[in-house]
Amino acid sequence: MTLGRLAYAHVVHPLYHFAKRDGVNRAVRELRRNQWLAANAIDAIQQEKLRRILVHAHGHVPYYRDAIDALGVDPRELAQAETFACLPVLTKATIRRNHDRLQTTALAGNRLQLNSTSGSTGEPLKFYTDDAISTYLKASVIRNKEWTGWRRSSREVSLWGAPVDASKAEALRGRVHGAITGSLFLSAYDMTEEAMDSYLSSIARHQPILLVSYPSILEVFATHCRTRATRVESLRAIITSAETLLPHQRDLIEKTFETPVFNRYGCREVGDIAHECASHAGLHVNSDCVLVEIVDGSGRPCSRGETGDVLVTSLHNYGMPLIRYAIGDRAAWSLRTRCECGRGLPLLAGIEGRSMDVVSTRSGKHIGGTYWTILLRSRPGFTQFQVVQDTPDGIRVRFVRDDRFDAGVLEYYTQRIREKCGAEFHVEFQEEKALEPSAAGKRRLVVSNVDRTLPA
Ligand SMILES: [Zn+2]
Repeated sequence: MTLGRLAYAHVVHPLYHFAKRDGVNRAVRELRRNQWLAANAIDAIQQEKLRRILVHAHGHVPYYRDAIDALGVDPRELAQAETFACLPVLTKATIRRNHDRLQTTALAGNRLQLNSTSGSTGEPLKFYTDDAISTYLKASVIRNKEWTGWRRSSREVSLWGAPVDASKAEALRGRVHGAITGSLFLSAYDMTEEAMDSYLSSIARHQPILLVSYPSILEVFATHCRTRATRVESLRAIITSAETLLPHQRDLIEKTFETPVFNRYGCREVGDIAHECASHAGLHVNSDCVLVEIVDGSGRPCSRGETGDVLVTSLHNYGMPLIRYAIGDRAAWSLRTRCECGRGLPLLAGIEGRSMDVVSTRSGKHIGGTYWTILLRSRPGFTQFQVVQDTPDGIRVRFVRDDRFDAGVLEYYTQRIREKCGAEFHVEFQEEKALEPSAAGKRRLVVSNVDRTLPA
């Protein structure tokens, strides 16, 4: 280790976190302790946090005051499973309709920050987070990353694309933060052969132990590394997130980088929900920060191993409580009741979220799934869409129109796509009455039927 690296790990990094004094350190200590408690002790912590947020919601959040009064139960009793399940499911549409009534009227120095989903699975959703949840969001990211062997002084690289993250990382503040925290940000939206070669050089200089990215992007990047017969020597772990991790992707990524993949499941609204530990026997739910329910079509809790709809309740967002929020993914509880790692946090067997392939052009550009979904939501006109690539020369966009549709939007998208993929790139729009989910129930938003030849 060079002198600079030593000074960084033992002086700069600890000073930075000490100076921030934002309560994150305290929350990290709490979460580190909680994870080793027995399952029933963790349940008790969750119940107490849930009780507190429900009492707050009833007292200070107009939408929940009405919803809880309508049930006619004492909010202090509401945390019990049977009564809690009587609360209405919160959908994205309900959040949009009740945006103001879902905010607390009692901030008491707790600041609210406006946040938004990237819009990659639908129209962007605006919501508020407060100081309390920001602290726990950061702390649970830290706890989860520690499961991979990462430490707070470790170097990492993100191959990421959400524009909100990209612009934050590129701003001066983001670059300074990146330099201090040892994180390097590379755009997942410009995956040309040249860009990937330059990423490999940047990564070799940066020497990260952790790489964070989307499964579909890592599939492209791993394939590229194989053609260059190169690997990243310093890597010790890879975190995949934001899309369903398919078995062939995990296999390719682990073989190429000779390092384990840790799957992460989370969302912007409530943060990291679940994460794999080094036993790779499922994903541990951060159940001291978020309450997860899995319910069947009639709203009843699913038994272990049975796939159902995921409802999440954030246990720390007092500014805008999201209670029984239907996030739009499907998952199943693991049949295992304990994990070899010894953590008491419950396990999910797997998640069926959105699945997004990468679109590749003949000129060697690879454009990740989130690029398409964000673009095709940037104008009104489509209620549903699916990007299908059958040949390297173009794509087909299947769509269902909404009442704000006009033909100009097709022209607009064609232009944007040709700027990205080349003037020759063929873009065809195909109107549909409805788009059905695939047999497995997955929402396949970007589907590629083009065979990218994978070197052995
Ligand atoms: Zn474990």
